[in-house]
Formats: sequence, C-alpha cells, structure tokens
Amino acid sequence: MIKKVGGTEIKARHRASCHCGAVVLELDLPDGIVDPRRCDCSICRRKGAIVASVPLAGITIIEGEDVLTRYEFNTHTARHYFCSRCGIYTHHQRRSNPDQYGYNVGCLEGVNPFDLGSVPTNDGVNHPADRS
Ligand SMILES: [Zn+2]
Repeated sequence: MIKKVGGTEIKARHRASCHCGAVVLELDLPDGIVDPRRCDCSICRRKGAIVASVPLAGITIIEGEDVLTRYEFNTHTARHYFCSRCGIYTHHQRRSNPDQYGYNVGCLEGVNPFDLGSVPTNDGVNHPADRS
C-alpha cells in the first residue's frame, strides 16, 4: 500500500489525466497505489508504463469519454484505453483479472512514477491466462 509518492499524498479519490488533458479520470484509491508493476508482454513492453490496480468500479471518467479509444488484440479479453488525441494509455480492463482495471501510474495527478523506485516486473510473456 503506497499512500505517498515523492511529495504527493495519494487521495482516496485521486484524479488522473492523459497528456493533453482531454481525458480526466477519478480513481478510488482508498488503499493508495496497489500492486504497481511493469510487464513484459507485447503491449506493455512497448508502452513502458508502471501499472497499478483498481476494481472496475474504481474508475470514473470525468471528461473525455468521447476521446478515449479502445484497442483489443489476440483474445480480445483485455481492453486497452488511450486518448485518441495525445496517444497516452490511461487504463485497461485486465485479461488476467477482468474484474480489475490496470491504470497508468504516470497519469496520476502530481505523481512521478520514478519516485516509486524499482517495482516488480510481471511475466507477461507467459501470460497468467495461458498457463495451465
Ligand atoms: Zn490526451
């Protein structure tokens, strides 16, 4: 449970935004930043974001629902959302746990993800949903 990053307190309802500001989300983070990690799957290795977890009910789109674009691939289970204007990944519905969103820690207001130090890397090459 991470309640403070650098000088920024993580609020119980914390705002997040894309780079251009068209997309604004409100995240329910009563336990702070939960389970931040990187992943080496084919999409995460390209986007390079540190991703943390919230339940599906934990994200409210405040602005820019019309600007958010969805990308799916492979099994089309995971839904990856990004801003169609600036291209920034904001959040995705997980394939490994469809009851959760992963979200881009770098989109959290006032948070520099580099202040988290090192975070675990998820083995996305051998996706949990593909393991027997
Ligand atoms: Zn944007």
